[in-house]
Amino acid sequence: MKDSYGRIIDYMRISITDHCNLRCRYCMPEGISQVPMEEILTYEEIEELCRAASELGISRLKITGGEPLVRSGCPRLIGMLKKIPGIEQVTMTTNGTLLKQYLPQLLDHGLDAVNISLDTLNPQIYQQITGKNQLHEVLAGIGQALKAGLTVKLNAVLQPGINSKEWLSLARLTTQYPLDVRFIEMMPIGCGRSYRPVSNQELLLRLKASYPDLRTDESIRGNGPAVYYRIPRAMGSVGFISALHGKFCSGCNRLRLTAQGKLKPCLCFEEEVDVMEILRGKKKGCNGSSAGERKRRYNGSSAGERKFRLQRSAAV
Ligand code: SAM
Ligand code: SF4
Repeated sequence: MKDSYGRIIDYMRISITDHCNLRCRYCMPEGISQVPMEEILTYEEIEELCRAASELGISRLKITGGEPLVRSGCPRLIGMLKKIPGIEQVTMTTNGTLLKQYLPQLLDHGLDAVNISLDTLNPQIYQQITGKNQLHEVLAGIGQALKAGLTVKLNAVLQPGINSKEWLSLARLTTQYPLDVRFIEMMPIGCGRSYRPVSNQELLLRLKASYPDLRTDESIRGNGPAVYYRIPRAMGSVGFISALHGKFCSGCNRLRLTAQGKLKPCLCFEEEVDVMEILRGKKKGCNGSSAGERKRRYNGSSAGERKFRLQRSAAV
């Protein structure tokens, strides 16, 4: 699927819940209200939407949240999505606290890779950032995922004066384990607006100063806008996702689906399409229709109509 800027859109991030078992201060601090289950897309609705998206050229899906593993049956959803013709890859972003517990099921259902958030290696700082004392569980989950041979990427958001000094220890994990570590600049969205970012440009300069032989790593073609470098003899790469300084909009390849069924072409704009309304037949003129009618209306006589709706949302 091509948008009006000629960008190929082949990747969709799907949030399956807004609930989380951590309280990261820049994302979901205490006191954030949560949406009731009936206002969240069911797994069957997500599957139906992904079938339509696949027909339009979406081939890679990322399951995210909130924390995806707190929603019951998450591995089952991964199995459902893996069976959709045209879907080549289903991956997940998780805080890792429940990963060890669910890893066998996730692997059984065909999970292709996992991104795990890890902002610090220090238990006290972990508690300060996330509000919980669960670093040990996260590290165990990372260990098990590596042992199982799963592709692992760690995501770190640095905050000045909190965990920013840990950048080198985090980067050096790539020399000790076969995984990538990516630094994500704090984005001024939601609660992140209250926090200052650490510049990835400065981080890269410091990494180059520590490792003058640092090389760009073109071998990785992930789903996202990260730029990768490799420390000599390391097993993995260090990536930079520079939301503020990177200006990567020209290479954007994605759609986002919120847990409440809003399809968003861009994180930075309010623009969205309510696909839950379409799926549940609540859109004007759809009230009271049977499941079958609804399906026909959505699927369509409507492969064409559906295509138009999705393309329009991607083209904004
Ligand atoms: N709960 C899962 C996790 O933590 O990996 C998945 C959802 S979480 C929202 C996905 C990623 O977004 C995490 O790596 C988190 O650190 C990052 N994130 C959240 N708020 C952010 C912000 N304001 N700026 C940059 N990254 C942010
Ligand atoms: Fe939860 Fe992930 Fe947000 Fe942290 S970043 S509060 S783990 S959703």
